[in-house]
Amino acid sequence: MRIEQLGDGVPEVAVVGSIHGDEPCGRDGIEAVLADPPAVERPVKFIIANEAALEANQRYLDTDLNRSFPGDADSESRETRLAAAIASELRDCTVLSLHSTQSYDGMFALVDELTPEMEDLCSVLSVDAVVQTKGANEGRMIATVDSVLEVECGYQGSADAAENAAQVIREFLAATGVTAASPPQRETSLPVFQLGEPIPKAAADQYEVFVRNFEPVPEGDPVAAADDETVVAEEPFHPVLLSAYGYEDVFGFTADRIGMLD
Ligand SMILES: [Zn+2]
Repeated sequence: MRIEQLGDGVPEVAVVGSIHGDEPCGRDGIEAVLADPPAVERPVKFIIANEAALEANQRYLDTDLNRSFPGDADSESRETRLAAAIASELRDCTVLSLHSTQSYDGMFALVDELTPEMEDLCSVLSVDAVVQTKGANEGRMIATVDSVLEVECGYQGSADAAENAAQVIREFLAATGVTAASPPQRETSLPVFQLGEPIPKAAADQYEVFVRNFEPVPEGDPVAAADDETVVAEEPFHPVLLSAYGYEDVFGFTADRIGMLD
C-alpha cells in the first residue's frame, strides 16, 4: 500500500485506487492528480491499495481484496491483512474508491446506502447512474468502512478509464471542500438502482451477453449465453455489471430501478 497526502493535519477525506491489481485506472488517476497537485483547503489522503497485484497485473494474489473486508492483521492471506490495514487508514474518512469493469465504458457510482451525504456527492460527480448495494456486498470495503463511494471508471486497462478516474477525483475533491473549485452542475437527473441477485454463469468455452447495462430487460428476453445455453429473464430487471468475461462464475447482477436523483 502506498500512501500520499496533500495538506497538513489528519485527513477526513481519502481517495483509494487499485484495490484490484488489474484495474490500473485508480493508481493512474491518483498519479495524474498528484503530478499536478491542486491547492487544498483541507488535507486529503491518497492510497494506492494493492501494489503487489498491480505489479503482477492480477486482480489479487491470495484473495479478492474487495471481498476481504473488514480484514485480519494475522491472516495468511496477503489481501486479508491488507484489508485490515486499509480499513484502519480510512477510519473516520469520507472515501472515494476507484474501480473499473469489463461491462460499461462510462462512469457509475456504487454506495452501500444512499444517505444524504452520498446523495450530495453523487449528484455532483460525472456519473451516469447510482447503484445501491445494501444487502449484497459481503466483504466489500463499501460495507465495512463508513462513508465509501465507489466509482466504476470505465473499461479495465483503458486510457479512458484512467482519464475518467482523474476527472472524478478532482470532482470529489471539490465536492468535499478539499479544493475550492466549484463542482460541476448536473443537467440531467440520475437514475438510482438497487442491486439484486447475481446472474449465474455455467462453465463453458464461449460466453455472450445480449442486453445493455442499466437498460430495462422484459421478462422472457434472452440475457446471455454460455455456449449453446441461453439465460432468459425470469422477471423484468435492469442489468448491472453484466459482461461476458468479467467474472468467473456470474455474468453480472440484476437490479431494480428505485428512483431518480435530481
Ligand atoms: Zn475493482
